[in-house]
Amino acid sequence: MSQIRALYRLQKIDLEIDQRRRRIQEISALLEQDEALRAAQAQVTALQETLRPKETRTADLNLELQTVTTQIKQLSERLYSGKVHNPRELEDLGHKLEERQRRREHLEDALLELMLETDELQGELAQANAHLEAVRTSRAEEHQALAEELKQLRAELARLKEERSEAIRAISAENLVLYKSLRARRHGRALAPLNGESCSACGVRQTTQIVQRVRQGQEIVTCASCGRILIAI
Ligand SMILES: [Zn+2]
Repeated sequence: MSQIRALYRLQKIDLEIDQRRRRIQEISALLEQDEALRAAQAQVTALQETLRPKETRTADLNLELQTVTTQIKQLSERLYSGKVHNPRELEDLGHKLEERQRRREHLEDALLELMLETDELQGELAQANAHLEAVRTSRAEEHQALAEELKQLRAELARLKEERSEAIRAISAENLVLYKSLRARRHGRALAPLNGESCSACGVRQTTQIVQRVRQGQEIVTCASCGRILIAI
């Protein structure tokens, strides 16, 4: 195999390696960023934190309502038992009963309001939880697909690296240095096939003499404009 063909083969392998490496980087970045999941989780936590004090307050009010209801029952029983005859005591019992009844009304109103608020929040929380589950599921599926792709890419990369070390053996040290330096300066492409009489990389038309030398394929001929090694395919 001529040096130029060997170099062109090396470039093909290197471009394939570049492409796999880029994709591996992309996938690694995708696997690290979990913005959607974090946002969904944060929404659930925020709703839970808003809901918790309201639930505690509901429990407290219910407990007080029980106590007040018992007190009302006891006061009514005593007031209407017929056992209390002292007018001051009767009046006092009547006042206490009214006060407890007002308290009960107040508690019932407050509980109703709290119930409406917590109902709404619980609805929102249920929605947020469903959304979080959906995000988790889709992330898991995506992760699995990406992890599989990553595995395949790594296997391909290993195979390409083997091909590369074999391809390199056919190339002289001097040409390898030239190739590497051109590849670094020319976006990974050290060689360019001739397209008619022009360099396919930069599009510049070559002289007839250059085109002939490239077609003979006996020596390294570079593009007069971009400096890439020209090859006739
Ligand atoms: Zn060129």
